[in-house]
Amino acid sequence: MARAQARLTVLSGPSGVGKGTVVAEVRRRHPAVWVSVSVTTRKPRPGEVDGEHYWFVDDEHFDWLIAQDGLLEWAEFAGNRYGTPAGPVREQLAAGSPALLEIELQGARQVRARAPEAQLVFLAPPSWSELVSRLAGRGTEHPEVQERRLALAQAELDAAGEFDVVVVNDDVARAADELVGLLTAPPPAGS
Ligand code: ADP
Ligand code: 5GP
Repeated sequence: MARAQARLTVLSGPSGVGKGTVVAEVRRRHPAVWVSVSVTTRKPRPGEVDGEHYWFVDDEHFDWLIAQDGLLEWAEFAGNRYGTPAGPVREQLAAGSPALLEIELQGARQVRARAPEAQLVFLAPPSWSELVSRLAGRGTEHPEVQERRLALAQAELDAAGEFDVVVVNDDVARAADELVGLLTAPPPAGS
């Protein structure tokens, strides 16, 4: 069935759980999988490439995208804005191919409201202490930013029940393969 191939899948979960790492592994192991590149007002981290990890834009450009209705969803997260360009996702699905978004919780809820047929996948840490050490271990944020992200992470963990599927990020390669399996899985009967 063509519809099963054209599913929109959203990967979400608390900051620091490993969403970026798992999606990078999906790209490495399964280069054919199409992953949306978000726009953000956040500054690039060392090694991040414009157009590959994100489109890095200023506030003015982000405002313009919202005004054009150019974003499928967007959210403010820990002091920066992030959004999914709508056009490329639409084209991907229209071509009958699966599309993967890696976004935070508020965005996942907006996708659910706009595209109820989308599959929402929650990436969960093996434990809370593992989440804390991953966020600290990444070392990309100042301690006060880490604190802010951990406070958000607690609320984000509570939202796991809103999702269709929970994937535990115990092992990156295993979680990536499970996610790819979900991308091409037929939707449940009746959905
Ligand atoms: P997110 O995108 O969800 O904010 P990241 O992908 O940046 O999270 O991962 C946060 C940290 O956790 C990174 O240092 C990453 O290397 C580490 N990490 C990710 N997945 C695993 C895993 N399965 N086991 C151990 N460490 C992991
Ligand atoms: P980071 O700054 O660590 O790259 O991302 C912060 C958070 O923003 C992560 O939880 C990530 O999933 C989320 N994010 C990335 N792109 C988007 C997007 O397009 N929309 C939304 N809503 N969240 C995003």
